[in-house]
Amino acid sequence: MVAMQNGRLSGNRGGRKADKDLVRAVALDVLGQHGIERAPVDPLAIAKSLGIVVQSSDKLEGCFSGCLLRAGASFGILYSTGIRNKGYQRFTVAHELGHFSLSDHHRVLFEKGALHRSESGFSSGVWYEQEADLFGVELLIPEFLFHKHRREFATGLDGVKGLAELFQTSLTATGIRYASLCTEAVAVVVSEGDRFCTPSCRGRSYRRWVCSRGSGGRRGSSRARASLEE
Ligand SMILES: [Zn+2]
Repeated sequence: MVAMQNGRLSGNRGGRKADKDLVRAVALDVLGQHGIERAPVDPLAIAKSLGIVVQSSDKLEGCFSGCLLRAGASFGILYSTGIRNKGYQRFTVAHELGHFSLSDHHRVLFEKGALHRSESGFSSGVWYEQEADLFGVELLIPEFLFHKHRREFATGLDGVKGLAELFQTSLTATGIRYASLCTEAVAVVVSEGDRFCTPSCRGRSYRRWVCSRGSGGRRGSSRARASLEE
């Protein structure tokens, strides 16, 4: 199980815990190496400058969103065209860049072959998938850019939507980042049909999510609730 508490991931299936401090440092290093100081961050441009070929594919089966391939010292990234959400496509590329940039992933990912299939989107319980998801968020919505822009938008769901458009990220990833970095009382709830869960729950297909704010927070009586088709 993956649990996000105050922006921290926990859960250690696979033998160790995700090292969020390391992930944040590596993501900031990548941003710094590429001189990125403005939103939106382009993960495809970063991949290209690293010599990584990125291609879309309709051959990724099942729930796999992308994969990282290695051929000798060369790397490639495939992302599924089954993902119709541009923000999620960019997140998938950023997730694979995480596997590439976090060098201790290579030993695990390529233990059994030259191809690693990913199921990005905070649904995996293993440390290296959690770290790649964290890297994707840290890369696409770095904390310094989040705080630079968040006051340009209203607090709450409208702010999440505005920031998702600015950063060109999915509502799910933006909402999770928003909840972890905001100083206000913010909760993110993901729903599917008549079911719902927090982002800490496993979910393969987030068709709809609900953001509610303030129900148990400092302002007490204020509550904003809306649902969105992603
Ligand atoms: Zn992965």
